[in-house]
Amino acid sequence: MSCTSQVLVLNCGSSSLKFAVMDPHDGTVAMSGIGEALGHDEPQVSWKIKDERHSSTLPKGTRHTEVIRFLVDTILSQHPALRDHLIAIGHRVVHGGEKFSHSVLINDAVVSAIKECVALAPLHNPAHLAGIEAAKVAFPALPQVAVFDTAFHQSMPRHAYIYALPYSLYRDNGIRRYGMHGTSHRFVTERAAELLNLSVNEVNIISAHLGNGASITAVHNGRSVDTSMGLTPLEGLVMGTRSGDVDPGLLMHLGSRMDFGLKEINDLLNKKSGLLGISELSNDCRTLEKAATDGHDGAQLALDIFCYRLAKYIGAYHAVLPQVDALVFTGGIGENSSLIRHKVMTQLSGIGYAVDIERNERARFGEDGPISTDQSAVTLVIPTNEEWVIARDAAELVPPDTPNHDPSTRE
Ligand code: AMP
Repeated sequence: MSCTSQVLVLNCGSSSLKFAVMDPHDGTVAMSGIGEALGHDEPQVSWKIKDERHSSTLPKGTRHTEVIRFLVDTILSQHPALRDHLIAIGHRVVHGGEKFSHSVLINDAVVSAIKECVALAPLHNPAHLAGIEAAKVAFPALPQVAVFDTAFHQSMPRHAYIYALPYSLYRDNGIRRYGMHGTSHRFVTERAAELLNLSVNEVNIISAHLGNGASITAVHNGRSVDTSMGLTPLEGLVMGTRSGDVDPGLLMHLGSRMDFGLKEINDLLNKKSGLLGISELSNDCRTLEKAATDGHDGAQLALDIFCYRLAKYIGAYHAVLPQVDALVFTGGIGENSSLIRHKVMTQLSGIGYAVDIERNERARFGEDGPISTDQSAVTLVIPTNEEWVIARDAAELVPPDTPNHDPSTRE
């Protein structure tokens, strides 16, 4: 296999590890895979290379370190061309707190800062740290780069990120809105600017990332000025299993009147609410669309609430932005569900949105472009590609003395 410079992208979740070897210039994926059920009884790793799929069961209790070893010893050792062209490793890191507004080369100070943010992302940041440590051992000569989900939102002004709580909670404990999905919102912003023939620093969009997790961001002159997720990924839109915004008085009600403990409240809001909770059927949009067509009332209600709440946020972000060049749909639902897009745009007809039915149906996974009519507020579908952003940032930050360093990767 002949190839140019490649970046290994690692995304360590609490019990999973997604990996991809990618060309940072054009986003071509040479190999990708996932380790799942890590720390459980039957961990699995599956991967795809040259359109061939492979999988393997790993020993009980396997964690991130062993998956990275497997990647090096079993997968990459059979594909030396890939391994030998690696120039960097890019890590997705969920929470960078206020410390990181850009991607950075990982050193001891960066590792310490990611540790300090563990309290803000207790499931994710420890997994990222494990991945960084294991990758350092497996690839000692390669630079490692951290790309933070929170970084894009560090441009939010104070009035958007401070909660109306005692200010000391922010000053002393860092309690504020941080926002997530920043890597996706940033990708979409850059691509929207290209499609609209604008430079990134003059584009104004509302970016709706709708997947199992969902968030929406107001982007002014290419920078995030508000976003729906907050201190944690629970705030904001209705999601697959997360409630999004609720009356905070609900928590006292559940605790004092219904004897819910903190763990039960956490499970209720994070795992049993959203599309799943309302429909009493599924968190999966596809399943709900089919069920609603077959007359399932809960599924219909879940989709209605999802779209209504999303439309309200879009309306609010029109008030935040001086001008909106485009509304953008992305994420599994945003890219694939013509029904959700249609419902939301119809709800927004009062502020100039109108769906072009044929364009909306044609927008398929992997393609981007407009779905609005020529006369109405511009609405685009843009498939997100967080891995590519991570690979690009990693390549950009490679120091010149690194083995395999290819100066053409620097933009
Ligand atoms: P993500 O978390 O970005 O992978 O998105 C997952 C969500 O996208 C799930 O709710 C899926 O049901 C939804 N999704 C994927 N494909 C479709 C589709 N063709 N129609 C509707 N929803 C879809």
